[in-house]
Amino acid sequence: MLKTHPVFPGERQGVILSTRRIGYSKTPREGSTIRYNRRQEELRQNVLAWAVLGLLLAILAAVIHLLYHQEFADADIPNDCFAVAAATGETAVPKLVCLTFDDGPSPNTQPILEILAQEKVPATFFVCAQDINREYLPLVRTIAQQGHQVAMHSATHRYAKIYQSPDAFWQDIKTLRQALEPYISLDTLTWLRFPGGSTNTVSHKYGGSSIMKELKAQTEEKGWHWIDWNVCGEDATAAHPDADGILRNIQEDARDLSTCVVLLHDTKATGQTVQALPQIIGWFREEGYTFCTVEQLAELQTTGE
Ligand SMILES: [Zn+2]
Repeated sequence: MLKTHPVFPGERQGVILSTRRIGYSKTPREGSTIRYNRRQEELRQNVLAWAVLGLLLAILAAVIHLLYHQEFADADIPNDCFAVAAATGETAVPKLVCLTFDDGPSPNTQPILEILAQEKVPATFFVCAQDINREYLPLVRTIAQQGHQVAMHSATHRYAKIYQSPDAFWQDIKTLRQALEPYISLDTLTWLRFPGGSTNTVSHKYGGSSIMKELKAQTEEKGWHWIDWNVCGEDATAAHPDADGILRNIQEDARDLSTCVVLLHDTKATGQTVQALPQIIGWFREEGYTFCTVEQLAELQTTGE
């Protein structure tokens, strides 16, 4: 539906252009010129008809694609992967990597926990408490018990709602904490990842251009911390990379970084992330990285400087 809007003006423009061209052609003095002009005109109309048909088909395909991938639409915006961390820093030696999983828990969280346990690797989970994942919330307790870090992401993950105002954002976080309270000590929840990242621009249209700046300052005022990422698996994008694709995305981003904060997702739609995880861990190991949680990374960076 959205995509039809820009197409129709273009269509009209095409007709106007072609009429103008006819208008510009000289007054025909001979019959052959008239026939030639008519053939030209028919040809133009045919081309135009096919172009319009092609456009309509493309719109139809786009609409079907959008509907099919709607569950990704609000998961993470395209500029997620370009929101490079301001807070990650790259000064720590030796090489450190934080695997982070956003938007869960979900049916894919348990298999992820099993791989992490097998590989003896800690990770950080930035969790949500939406209606669709409510039944998996008890997994938050398991995540913490297995030595991983549970951190805040959002209750609803709806940009239009949470980025309406700072009040709306903190109300959402309050809802999230209330939903998590039965499973984890709230005192341990001091880390936050903003949906879309701290440099997202989608929030500007709802809460103005300074909303992220305000939210970051308010997070710090609460004595909490926020973190983005500097390596992205792109596993929740509409491109749907397979396990090999996710690994390649990570390898490309991680090149030359001594500290990696890797963005992955444990939603029900990211089964390929589970498939990719053993290879991802294996690759970071081969490259000489040590795994840690976000909290541990911050501690190491503070003590290491
Ligand atoms: Zn997210």
